[in-house]
Amino acid sequence: HLSHRLQTVAGFVLSGSRLADIGSDHAYLPAYLVMNKKIKWAIAGEVVAGPYQNAVHEIRQLHLENLVATRQADGLAAIHVDEEIDVVTICGMGGSLICQILTAGFDQLNKQPRLILQPNVNEVAVRHWLIRNSYQIVAEEIVAEDRHIYEIIVADPIKEPITLTTTEYLFGPLLLQAKSPAFIQKWQGEKLKLQRVLAQLTQAQNEPVAKEQELQQKIKLIEEVLND
Ligand code: SAM
Repeated sequence: HLSHRLQTVAGFVLSGSRLADIGSDHAYLPAYLVMNKKIKWAIAGEVVAGPYQNAVHEIRQLHLENLVATRQADGLAAIHVDEEIDVVTICGMGGSLICQILTAGFDQLNKQPRLILQPNVNEVAVRHWLIRNSYQIVAEEIVAEDRHIYEIIVADPIKEPITLTTTEYLFGPLLLQAKSPAFIQKWQGEKLKLQRVLAQLTQAQNEPVAKEQELQQKIKLIEEVLND
């Protein structure tokens, strides 16, 4: 009963790896991966008591206690020192919270893991964090589910730092190349939203011109990408 969104995330988890799923809630993702024998062992980390109990119950019910460690901890503190974690997944939260979690605990990791991140909003912040911290985006997916559109960003550590253009940061370097139907749907929706905000600003009249110009520029950028 894994959602299409989490199925997509699962597909990017390296076979035989040791996973830490941060903000795991019901621990559906690690449970699915160990049951399907794709991974050996996982941590399901949760900071909030209710979701942590959800994880504990799920893992107990499935008799997976030896394969999934449920831990109540803030972010990457769920990972103990010397636990060789190959993949970290952080899904279903805002992009800035994902960046905060990564920044707060990253130095404690003894190995740079693959990161599979699914921000609900502010994907651009996540891409900036990755590039700033010597990660390379190796895959991106965009999936539509329950009237929402989710982006999944997969990144591996690299030695040579790379950079992205403003357009790539905003739209995603690989999503931009693929321009899938979900991508087009997302950005057509974003454009409509921005146009509505712009119309309201124009009516209000006493708003600063700079704000209007910023919106116009973003709309133009979206149009360029969609019409390209
Ligand atoms: N990852 C699951 C998914 O994608 O379906 C659950 C997503 S749920 C919407 C977000 C979860 O992140 C919540 O259960 C919340 O308690 C947890 N969370 C938020 N901040 C966290 C933090 N700093 N450390 C660990 N978990 C956190």
